Amino acid sequence: MIPDAEFGYELLVCRFVELTWYPDGDPRPAIVSRQLGTKRRRWDTVVIEVDPEAYAARRAFGDRALDSDLLHVVRDAPAEWAWYRDALPDPGYPWRYVRQAVHRAAGRDVIEKRRRGNRIEIRRVRPYPDWVDRIVAIENKPDLDRSAADALADQLAHDVETALADEVWLATEATGDRVEPALLRSMPVEAGILTTAFADGDAGGERAAVDADAATVDWLPSDLEPSGSEGRDPETVTRRLEIAERAYGKGWRSYHDTMRPDCRHFELRRAGRALVPHCTAKDRCPTDRECSGSCPSFTPEPPAWRTKGWPIEGGPGKGIRALLSRRRERVRDRIDPDG
Ligand code: SF4
Repeated sequence: MIPDAEFGYELLVCRFVELTWYPDGDPRPAIVSRQLGTKRRRWDTVVIEVDPEAYAARRAFGDRALDSDLLHVVRDAPAEWAWYRDALPDPGYPWRYVRQAVHRAAGRDVIEKRRRGNRIEIRRVRPYPDWVDRIVAIENKPDLDRSAADALADQLAHDVETALADEVWLATEATGDRVEPALLRSMPVEAGILTTAFADGDAGGERAAVDADAATVDWLPSDLEPSGSEGRDPETVTRRLEIAERAYGKGWRSYHDTMRPDCRHFELRRAGRALVPHCTAKDRCPTDRECSGSCPSFTPEPPAWRTKGWPIEGGPGKGIRALLSRRRERVRDRIDPDG
């Protein structure tokens, strides 16, 4: 039983992945995010498997993601001072945008810059590491019916073809015999199938909504990394890195940035080893789209909650945001460079 359709399910899958990765195999250090991809294709859950030592070196560049413009500067910043136009590869767009990125990068202390005459020179602070091992995309479909299966089969086939990810999975909820084996069989054979059995944590049932045993692997995925010596082209490598950076900066709990934890009806409820949003007005997990300032039931938390009598300065909404950010930090810190 799922808190609410796809959004709630997605959060449970993210938490399951965070607890267990790799399903049915030895643990692999990884960070988890959601709703990332390219213009053409957005994945529900994204797992970035990392090299722990290189990941520690990436951590030294700070907690925020490096966007594509910053990556262009940071990855190629030279060890010795050089004019930025000599040091960096031709961007394919006007250099003035690169100059802006140079200033931003220096403002974040991820490179050094100085002015020589009318030229701006740059130097790296440290090498940007090769920290991303593999990228895994998971499509979440709690209720897999025929039309969802057809749409998903097309999307997964596209993923298999582009090989932007190293592995793709379908996560679907076991609901008696509602997931027909025939539907699963229509998926591309390269896609893995994870069947979840998340019980309803709200109901206080015997089974937790999410724990390490809450899913089984019904089909193992194939490795999509192109074989042969050429590997991926540089453009794909860059796109993968951009996705990994966004995943690193965002994590999967950033829904609090767009939802309204400052609404008096917003709560976080425990669902086994996960925390999921709950709306007391709707008596269910709200979707991230409906939980906004335009929600008809939105009621700002009373000012008194933000001042006296609330243990966290700033009121419950701010407290929820802080809690979710702390958890993201904790998970990021957990990857041990010594393995
Ligand atoms: S009432 Fe609306 S804005 Fe408030 S928590 Fe519920 S869904 Fe979100």
